[in-house]
Amino acid sequence: MNTEADLRRRLSRIDGRGYKAYKDLEGEYSFRTFTLYIDHVQGDPFAAPSKLRVRIPHSVARLPPELFANRVRNIALADYLARRVARAIRKVVSGRKGSGKSGLVEIDAGGQEVLERTAVRISPDWVEARVFVGLPAAGRRILGRAAEEILCREIPEIVSAGLVWESIPQAEARGFVDCVENQEHIRSRLDELGLVAFVADGAILPRESGASDRPLPPDRAIRFRSPDELRVTVPLLHPLPDGRAELTGMGIPKGVNLIVGGGYHGKSTLLRALERGVYPHIPGDGREYVVTCADAVKIRAEDGRRVERVDISPFIGLLPYGRDTREFSSDDASGSTSQAANILEAIEVGAKVLLLDEDTSATNFMVRDARMQALVHSDDEPITPFIDRVRELHARLGVSTILVMGGSGDYFDVADTVIMMRDYLPHAVTERAKEISRLHPTNRRIEARFPFTGVTPRVPLPESFDPSRGRREVKIDAKGLDLILYGRDPIELRFVEQLVDRSQTRAIGYAIHLATRRFMDGKTSLSDVLDRLDRFLDTDGLDSLDPFRRGERHPGAFARPRRYEIAAAINRLRTVRMRQRETKEAP
Ligand code: ADP
Ligand code: MG
Repeated sequence: MNTEADLRRRLSRIDGRGYKAYKDLEGEYSFRTFTLYIDHVQGDPFAAPSKLRVRIPHSVARLPPELFANRVRNIALADYLARRVARAIRKVVSGRKGSGKSGLVEIDAGGQEVLERTAVRISPDWVEARVFVGLPAAGRRILGRAAEEILCREIPEIVSAGLVWESIPQAEARGFVDCVENQEHIRSRLDELGLVAFVADGAILPRESGASDRPLPPDRAIRFRSPDELRVTVPLLHPLPDGRAELTGMGIPKGVNLIVGGGYHGKSTLLRALERGVYPHIPGDGREYVVTCADAVKIRAEDGRRVERVDISPFIGLLPYGRDTREFSSDDASGSTSQAANILEAIEVGAKVLLLDEDTSATNFMVRDARMQALVHSDDEPITPFIDRVRELHARLGVSTILVMGGSGDYFDVADTVIMMRDYLPHAVTERAKEISRLHPTNRRIEARFPFTGVTPRVPLPESFDPSRGRREVKIDAKGLDLILYGRDPIELRFVEQLVDRSQTRAIGYAIHLATRRFMDGKTSLSDVLDRLDRFLDTDGLDSLDPFRRGERHPGAFARPRRYEIAAAINRLRTVRMRQRETKEAP
């Protein structure tokens, strides 16, 4: 194997030559305490930066094995280390060293959520950081000395600061891993506690601003405090820094939950915390003990989206001119049809909790009141409003709802639990809401025409996915958080609100491609395809997502998406074709 001295020699040999000569560097180099892998060298100083890995054996890194002893802890520690490496980069790297990306050093560390990601990997034998480096040039001439500075001084400093136990703040690292495992522990207990979500007393839900996901500073935020009626105690696996071995907070039960309250009293803020609560959060986020069922899906109206052969008949009956809705397709769905499709698609792939906010729902989808029922005959109204299906969703399909609704008291009739937000604090008002229901009957008629017993599964047809662009057989790019370019086809994800990290978006693009090649055969339902994909990612890891990766190489920057966001992307790809499968064929 090459050594650090070989690398230095090569760098001085190519100093001043054209940029292409950097390609000679590809290979592995053993340094004193780690191995440097130069997996891919960028084509020019302006191209995407080069891909490097740094691998340290555990005999050197000395990370305590109990910090990565199981899957959750491994993911948490890897996430933490990526943040440490990012921090070390900010301290060590002096910055631009020439043209284009010269001198840039990056790692794909996470934001407020803790996700499985490819940035750091911890195997039984070593820990490895995957970094991106802009190899320096003046114009297009190689700056060998500057490259030596990055590769032989900055990188070793970064890895020893970021990955070696003795230079890591150890209590913080342990606290981080324990905190994430506590969150997953609570999540794993929700079902037996009869809950769909838990919001700890003391949590800080509001964010700094619409543009920042960081918490509102504690002096400006009202901390969450559960109403006594809904307060539950959940056990922790690891004591908190203050010694507590269990947490108290608000338990949101299975069933139909309504969040009411005046405008600007914190309803949407609570719902958004619950949306994000499907992921663990970093200590200090304020929402680290806001834990939602992993199968909770945000539902909203999304007019203009494409819909492919979804049976939306439970919500939308005969359309004008007798158009059938049991196999509904549209290139430009309306507010209500898109919201219906969003619900049915989520349940199709396993959603157990629906999260809805009146702010982003279609009004006519949510309710039709008695006066409107009197004026517009139900034969002329295709919509069965959500209010007339929400109880069935729970009773027949086991799907709970958390609904923010400040505008219509009609929902009092169908709610199991009513929570009122007042001055940013929740109050249990179920009894009062039920009494009001009795005293002021709405006189509306239930409009469901037939029982809602299930969702018609669909089979995606693999030939309808085309990842090619120009000369490239496979070209899939994530353009930020909200857009995938799948071949030539854009997948618009702006309204898929539980997508939180652009590396998830990138992963979704490749995951779809992988699924089309390996798990779709024109017979397997979308839900089964996602089961197989999840199993594949569990066993082979996120590293295997990149279709161009050969053997052990830098996998690129991926973070694990949920099946619901992968399904959402497939459902929004405008070329996709599906076939409905008879429910009775289902396994
Ligand atoms: P609603 O949906 O009831 O109209 P929002 O949830 O949008 O209200 O909240 C309104 C404003 O109050 C937002 O700017 C939000 O950041 C702020 N806010 C929400 N909860 C809190 C809190 N606990 N402490 C301080 N500010 C909060
Ligand atoms: Mg609101």
